[in-house]
Amino acid sequence: MKIGLFGGAFDPFHNGHLAICRAAVSTAGLDRLIVIPTYKAPHKDGFSAGYDDRCRMVELALAGTGAEVSRYEGERGGISYSAVTVEDFRRRFPEDELYFLIGSDSYRDIESWYQPERITAAATLLVFPRGGVEIAVRPHAQAVDMEPVRVSSTEIRTLLKYGGDPEKYMPKAVYKYIKENNLYE
Ligand code: ATP
Repeated sequence: MKIGLFGGAFDPFHNGHLAICRAAVSTAGLDRLIVIPTYKAPHKDGFSAGYDDRCRMVELALAGTGAEVSRYEGERGGISYSAVTVEDFRRRFPEDELYFLIGSDSYRDIESWYQPERITAAATLLVFPRGGVEIAVRPHAQAVDMEPVRVSSTEIRTLLKYGGDPEKYMPKAVYKYIKENNLYE
């Protein structure tokens, strides 16, 4: 079975993330997709929304799609190193083909991550296009064709903070959740 792991801050989850989830199944042919919100990032000072809210938004966005949302990194606690996460899932699924999904901007920077060779030893990278960042695929990675979606969580948070309306950039249920819970104001 082809199993994909998709980690991210999802602060909040948006249409770019959704496009990756769809292409992972329809184009890359994954049988199972596990989305893993980051609990505590090594790179960032902190997130704007709490872990539970970020998980809820991913669950709402992916309800009915067949993708699973895992709270594994929250349960593990501490800093969420992708190297540790991918190795743990490798142990959990020893017989399966394991893939780790990232956007081309993250792929460009992956050498600055914590022990990235542990990620590429445990899984094949699936790299999805992100506007403006070309993908030069190395042996441990495969590029997946997808129409780029120009949006970032930062842009959405900025719009919400200054009274703009980011509704078109995210699934309806996520927008509704943000409004109901007064997130990112
Ligand atoms: P922020 O603006 O806060 O940095 P982000 O929009 O980059 O957030 P993340 O949750 O940090 O979102 O991203 C998780 C993963 O999704 C990363 O691998 C990133 O490259 C990828 N990704 C995010 N947005 C897009 C997009 N619009 N197109 C393709 N890949 C994306």
